[in-house]
Amino acid sequence: MVNNMYDIKTLENLNENELKDFFESIGEKQFRAKQYFQSIHKNKILNVNDMTNFSMDLRDKLDAYNRIKNCSIATRIDSKLDNTKKYLIEMEDGNIVETVFMEYKTHTTICLSTQVGCRMGCKFCASTKKSFVRNLEPYEMCAQIYLVEKDLNTRISNIVLMGIGEPLDNYDNVVRFINLITDKNGQDMSIRNITLSTCGIVDKIKKLADDNIGINITISLHNPFDNERNLLMPIGNKYSIDEILKACDYYFQKTKRRIGFEYTVIENVNDSKEYMDRLVKLLKDRNCLLNLITLNPIDEFNQKSPSKGKMMSFMKYMNDNNVNTTIRRKQGVDIDGACGQLRINNMFDRGVR
Ligand code: SF4
Repeated sequence: MVNNMYDIKTLENLNENELKDFFESIGEKQFRAKQYFQSIHKNKILNVNDMTNFSMDLRDKLDAYNRIKNCSIATRIDSKLDNTKKYLIEMEDGNIVETVFMEYKTHTTICLSTQVGCRMGCKFCASTKKSFVRNLEPYEMCAQIYLVEKDLNTRISNIVLMGIGEPLDNYDNVVRFINLITDKNGQDMSIRNITLSTCGIVDKIKKLADDNIGINITISLHNPFDNERNLLMPIGNKYSIDEILKACDYYFQKTKRRIGFEYTVIENVNDSKEYMDRLVKLLKDRNCLLNLITLNPIDEFNQKSPSKGKMMSFMKYMNDNNVNTTIRRKQGVDIDGACGQLRINNMFDRGVR
């Protein structure tokens, strides 16, 4: 039976088995399900009328049940420094989300949004400015990839769920998206190439482990002391760092996937030896990777970025103390294209909405 949440008005959200039920229910052969699924998720045909492997009659019939939601590229901003491109993708209802494409020597990565707005309230993030509007549907996450691939005539190899929204606050839709995008008859994305970034919703991290999804997760840490982190990230009032780390241990036990931690280094705020020692204490016995991010100074968050030397010595100190640590390479700095949960100058600031 078709899942109640994703009824026949949203066929683009259904997996192949659910589509089989649907086609049977309208008196069509089940093999149509695979054709329909492949048309959307492999061939990226985003309009039923363009599915020429279906007769006109069947296209009309399908159109009567479900017109595939119209998602489109509203704006593309190209970095002048590298091949990073930032897209504003418009959903059928006029809501706009941000999607960033990054190109590396060996792979391409897309940073996707999972919600319109966000209810987590992190002080450094513009996604909170207009508060939460709505969750994105699975297909609206797929469409961000399909539109960018078509626009650039390229194949995206890696996905990071680090755009607008807290992915674990839209759990069911995000998991369904992951199942759709990794389906062998569709995009066939490797589960190992998908990374979800979260501010630390402990019960959902555990659920993700129990549901055996197998993606990589990374935690936005930014401060190793609860009382200070809570001021930046209100979710900390609900889940302490200790609880988050225990949930990460559980995730690692279940999935054997190494956990990432993101730490934005802010000069004279969280970069002293006291903070480094606390991080060492928290992370040194864990199979994890600490990703240091250099703060980009921004008006709304009036803090300074550390020098390159400071970043290097921070990294060295952590590695010398058995915490695997890297510094995140900056991409698309001129278009605020850097992924991670520290974005401030997004579409809301540009008055797009
Ligand atoms: S950083 Fe992430 S979780 Fe926090 S408000 Fe922004 S989008 Fe939401």
